[in-house]
Amino acid sequence: GADAERNMGPLRELAGRLSVALAAGQREQELFQRAHFDGLTGLPNRQLFYDRLRQALAQARRDGHGLAVLFIDLDGFKSVNDSLGHWAGDELLRETALRLTSVLREGDTVARLGGDEYAVILPHIDASLEAERMTNEILRAVAQPFNVTGQECFVTASIGITIFPDDGVAAEELLRKADTAMYSAKDGGRARAAFFAREMDERVQRRHELTNDLRAALAHGEFSLVYQPQVTFRDRRTVGVEALLRWRHPQRGLIPPIVFVPVLEDIGLIEQVGRWVLERALADYSGWLRQGLPIGRVAVNVTARQLASPHFVASVAGALRKAGLTGDCLEIELTEATLIADAAAANAKLKEIASLGARVALDDFGTGYSSLGYLNDLVFDTLKIDRAFVVNLPDERSTAIVRAILAVAKALGKEVIAEGIESALQLRQLDVLGCDVAQGFLFSQPLENDALRVWVREHETRRLAALVDGAAETVFRAGSG
Ligand code: C2E
Ligand code: MG
Ligand code: MG
Repeated sequence: GADAERNMGPLRELAGRLSVALAAGQREQELFQRAHFDGLTGLPNRQLFYDRLRQALAQARRDGHGLAVLFIDLDGFKSVNDSLGHWAGDELLRETALRLTSVLREGDTVARLGGDEYAVILPHIDASLEAERMTNEILRAVAQPFNVTGQECFVTASIGITIFPDDGVAAEELLRKADTAMYSAKDGGRARAAFFAREMDERVQRRHELTNDLRAALAHGEFSLVYQPQVTFRDRRTVGVEALLRWRHPQRGLIPPIVFVPVLEDIGLIEQVGRWVLERALADYSGWLRQGLPIGRVAVNVTARQLASPHFVASVAGALRKAGLTGDCLEIELTEATLIADAAAANAKLKEIASLGARVALDDFGTGYSSLGYLNDLVFDTLKIDRAFVVNLPDERSTAIVRAILAVAKALGKEVIAEGIESALQLRQLDVLGCDVAQGFLFSQPLENDALRVWVREHETRRLAALVDGAAETVFRAGSG
């Protein structure tokens, strides 16, 4: 009894110490868990992924094996999250983790890097064919319908693949290049995989250089504007000119706006460059006024980001004041896509622009979302039919589309400009259909200020002569000067 009791003392103490140690161990375990695993899916996180990748690379180097790294990004995850809520989004991410795990072999690692991004290590891969087979299984597994919170929904995966040692030997490099390849899979149409290729890196590299050069372009005076005339069908007056931005790169020459304007948007320089465009165009316009050139207005292209800026309307007003002009000299060109993203906010801006007396044009009409419903509420003056519908005129399909666009525009009382007119045949058809204003290479390429002034003078001379002769047709034909 008592002896036994006495012997129990140290035992109890030991048990107590053990339990403390166990609790500490558990806590450590928990801390480790939290630092290395993703709380939502229970998968390894980025840090543990890198640890495992370094280990796997060391092993591969010793054994002389290959290894593949996959960078996986879900397509359409955002729309599930936005429409069904975060709860459903989390559910989908967990289910994706389960599916990825179930596809993989023993010894493979799948990790969640963050958001809807996952990464996979496939050790002992000796041919890209094996990596491709595994990748296809993942694509199939993710593409199966998901059932989250009682709703069926669909997402797909875009996957970028890199192979050790062909694409790199360092962990960071392999993952970075797999990420680059993933973007190329997205560009290729999503729901697919792409192996890394050196050209992809060069593309990224080029964009990087472009970005740096763009930062200096404004200060170095590398931007300029050219102007393309817009002429009425009725009496051939130059109702306006469209200002188009040009960038002359010191080494690479002229770079088109479709290449660099999106980069300007990305790096947050579009507002600054946009303000320069506005001020330059209005300064040139006030010069034309002083010289008595009959140009009705100048049109300036504006992107979504510019319009969304809280300073936009004030900067338009400021530029008008600086040039000593009233708003009716200016038309702002916006694409449909710009307006549809946040229609109510955009429309409020359009009203402010209208209150300055400036006009608004819907550019590239018909190529965006073309929901006719929103046109009714939108504050705008001009609709620009995209070149895509002009290029095949007078074929039947294009004619039908242009006729429909014109019917809508006329019912709403809007002016219609046809863009990209290159042939007399296209011009005639647009005239028959009842278009108001013509713009395109048939009359003139976009011209530098000096050349534009010459063009307008000559055009006006011919126009007046032809009007006297009653042969307005000739004014267009002589458009090239
Ligand atoms: P956009 O506003 O639709 O401009 C019309 C584009 O079509 C111009 O290309 C013009 O040179 C071209 N074009 C005109 N007539 C013809 C023709 O008969 N045939 C053909 N094939 N093309 C014709 P550009 O100057 O390369 O500009 C491309 C786009 O870049 C513009 O499309 C506009 O969206 C954007 N952009 C140009 N300047 C600016 C700017 O100052 N600011 C902003 N935000 N975007 C600009
Ligand atoms: Mg335009
Ligand atoms: Mg256009």
